[in-house]
Amino acid sequence: MSKYDYDIGILGGGSAGLTIAAGAAQFGAKTLLVDKEDRLGGDCLHYGCVPSKTLIKTAHVYHLMKNASQFGLPRHEIKPVDFRDISDRIKSVIATIQKHDSVDRFCGLGAKVEFGNAVFKNEHTVSLNGKNVSAKNWVIATGSSPAIPKLEGLEQTPFITNRDIFYLDHLPKSMIVLGAGPISTEMAQAFCRLGSDVTVIQRSGRILGKEDMDMADAVMQNLAAEGVKYYLNTSVLSVKDLGAEREVMVAFKDGKTGSLRAEIILIALGREPNLRGLGLENAGVEYNVKGLKLDSRLRSTQKHIFGAGDVTGAYQFTHAAGYEGGIVLTNAILHLPRKADYTFFPWCTYTDPELANIGMNETAAREAGLKHAVWTEEFRMNDRGLAEGEGLGRIKLILDEKEKPLGVQILGLHAGELISEWVAALNGRVKLSALAGAVHPYPTLAEINKRVVGNYFSGKIFSDKVKKTLKFFFSLRGRACGIE
Ligand SMILES: Cc1cc2nc3c(=O)[nH]c(=O)nc-3n(C[C@H](O)[C@H](O)[C@H](O)COP(=O)(O)OP(=O)(O)OC[C@H]3O[C@@H](n4cnc5c(N)ncnc54)[C@H](O)[C@@H]3O)c2cc1C
Repeated sequence: MSKYDYDIGILGGGSAGLTIAAGAAQFGAKTLLVDKEDRLGGDCLHYGCVPSKTLIKTAHVYHLMKNASQFGLPRHEIKPVDFRDISDRIKSVIATIQKHDSVDRFCGLGAKVEFGNAVFKNEHTVSLNGKNVSAKNWVIATGSSPAIPKLEGLEQTPFITNRDIFYLDHLPKSMIVLGAGPISTEMAQAFCRLGSDVTVIQRSGRILGKEDMDMADAVMQNLAAEGVKYYLNTSVLSVKDLGAEREVMVAFKDGKTGSLRAEIILIALGREPNLRGLGLENAGVEYNVKGLKLDSRLRSTQKHIFGAGDVTGAYQFTHAAGYEGGIVLTNAILHLPRKADYTFFPWCTYTDPELANIGMNETAAREAGLKHAVWTEEFRMNDRGLAEGEGLGRIKLILDEKEKPLGVQILGLHAGELISEWVAALNGRVKLSALAGAVHPYPTLAEINKRVVGNYFSGKIFSDKVKKTLKFFFSLRGRACGIE
């Protein structure tokens, strides 16, 4: 007879918590899943991936409608959007997915779901809705929240974050976005396409700081061509509510100051882990501003208390949360010592076109002091891309000094789908020659994956040495046209 109420208790019913609860219950563990909101799904379902990708699709369709003549179609007068209709579509997609993340489904799997604020009293017990609940293992999977800067005037000035942006009751005429990470960049393009006048303010001299500069710059130039205004090397000094508009006072790189105005301010300045108020001090669990202090098996400073998802401070993506959920299950329930390994971790920024990555980019290879070579292929050489009306972007293959892949970046139409071939190839340690030799259907965007490997091999195959050898053995006579 266990001295604990549950085998495993999970705080947070988002991407990480749901994976762990479903797995633990199906392995036969007595499982408790707690969320402070009154529904499951977390940020991804309600304020993140799902609403943003739904909105991005709507904005894409509208953009195509406005640019139909580029596809040889007649011009039409396109009416302005009613954001309430867009928001309704977002809510309906969420409602469909919510069924999969319902209390009934988890109860059916065998997990008990409770809603409320859990606070650790000691390393095995939390207080929840006035009761003490104990578990042999605990998982902290409480996600992250938008980081809100300490800014003069912000407390008196209305602003929005990712929690509000999908549920607006009208399309803002104008929007100032603070920050230029993935959320900012995706939303800037989507709202610009829908008809808002969008301005992005960024303190550093570039956008998408985790990406290689050339790829990030290409994304920015594309968005700027669509109408997004960028203020780089610009610091926000203060904000002010003017009633119908908000004013943002800024300092430019040259020291001059100025002010920008918009109907709405969107704050997209990164994320901070939801760890405060959980009583982690009472449980002996250490953390800092970035996240929980974890070992490679995702165990905290208390070995039976794990962390997964955005609270790890590692890769803040839903697929990272799912992966880490699997690591926790293997360690906590199966008692197998499995470590998290992010060597070939993929991610994608869902601008149009998309920017996808796996493994190391050039910047990461340089920072790690690795000798490397970069092979590229442009989308303007891809027949399908041109047929689709999209010639922007390129693929970059980074090889180490032994000519083994370190990583791949793709900027281009459906890059998030195209990177999956590399997910399989890199994780399966597939030889580049196998990829080069594999037949890809024509015309597809995925041919670019084969072509970039072909570029790497072509210098070796069509070398002077090979030509001379063939000439010697088979008496090949060389060029038939042009100067020898
Ligand atoms: C606008 C936006 C777009 C995004 N797009 C993508 C994308 O396209 N692809 C992608 O992979 N990722 C995307 N992300 C990131 C993704 O949403 C997160 O990485 C993912 O949701 C993290 O999962 P999680 O389980 O750690 O946290 P969450 O899914 O946020 O779940 C945490 C849960 O914990 C609950 N909770 C919080 N505090 C407590 C507490 N004290 N007690 C109990 N419960 C608590 C919360 O209510 C929530 O339900 C996006 C994020 C945003 C904001």
